[in-house]
Amino acid sequence: MIGFIGLGIMGSRMAENLLNSGYSLIVYNRTKEKAEPLLQKGAKWANSPKEAAEQSDVIFTMLANPQAVETMALKEHGFLPYLSAGKLWVDCSTVDPAFTRKMAAKCAERGIRFIDAPVAGSKLPAEKGELVFFVGGRQEDVDEIRPLLHVMGKAVHHLGENGKGTMMKLVVNLMLAEAMAAFSEAVSLGEALGFDKETVVNMLLNTPTAAPFLQGKKDYIIHNRFPAEFPLEHMHKDLHLVAQSAYERGITLPLANLAKELYGLAKQYGWGQDDFSAVYRLLSGQK
Ligand code: NAP
Repeated sequence: MIGFIGLGIMGSRMAENLLNSGYSLIVYNRTKEKAEPLLQKGAKWANSPKEAAEQSDVIFTMLANPQAVETMALKEHGFLPYLSAGKLWVDCSTVDPAFTRKMAAKCAERGIRFIDAPVAGSKLPAEKGELVFFVGGRQEDVDEIRPLLHVMGKAVHHLGENGKGTMMKLVVNLMLAEAMAAFSEAVSLGEALGFDKETVVNMLLNTPTAAPFLQGKKDYIIHNRFPAEFPLEHMHKDLHLVAQSAYERGITLPLANLAKELYGLAKQYGWGQDDFSAVYRLLSGQK
């Protein structure tokens, strides 16, 4: 039995792919309604993370941030004390390396095997089973869960010991955040110089300067509508974790910290639940 905790935008789709591939699932989410579509497809409901752990051989988590992971793992009715020795916890949430190592150590104390496996790819790749996994953990454990990861993703990159998956995820999201902000600024300049928005967006997307993911944000920017694929508040969180990790390693990341504050301000303006591309609103002077 596979346990799955965290059924938001990403987790619900990842869990559904496991179900569709014939795996038995027991699921838990803070807000039960989000589990209903999976329960109708045959997943079993756990009344607590603890209950999910008691019935699972492998447990996946896909939660908002380190605090949410810690709550589900270790607070009241958390799952970690109820996973027996030898079982596996795979954390797909985007957290920071220090937190990942802390969770790995807690698992090691109890003989539980742990893997960090955050993902690149948003709502649609999650739905299609085309995520990219960045994985940290012991080779034999990674090999054991590889078939499950391949149900949810198109690539599995094993990068070394616990923490390495989380580290690479932060590296990738730093690029994502800055590229989105840079694109937004360029569009704003184009508009201010008198071009219509669609022309500027199309011109930029036809140059090698635009990152491939920006094609998927084209309509959002043109129509000024930002339904969440990757919620902006999570990008703010990721940049905070990037900044924190850089501080811990004794390096400075001036652009990342500037980007962090941009996304933070956009969140303060009330756009935290919108897609992270809503940072365009901020950079184009909307309020
Ligand atoms: P989401 O839709 O906001 O879902 C967040 C999940 O965390 C929900 O299950 C939510 O429960 C739970 N949660 C939040 N705070 C909690 C708390 N204090 N206690 C218990 N549960 C809590 O986010 P998502 O887009 O699926 O993202 C999940 C993770 O994947 C994040 O770490 C994100 O950075 C990362 N990620 C997202 C994307 C993307 O494109 N969306 C891509 C790559 C990585 P409720 O349902 O009760 O709120």
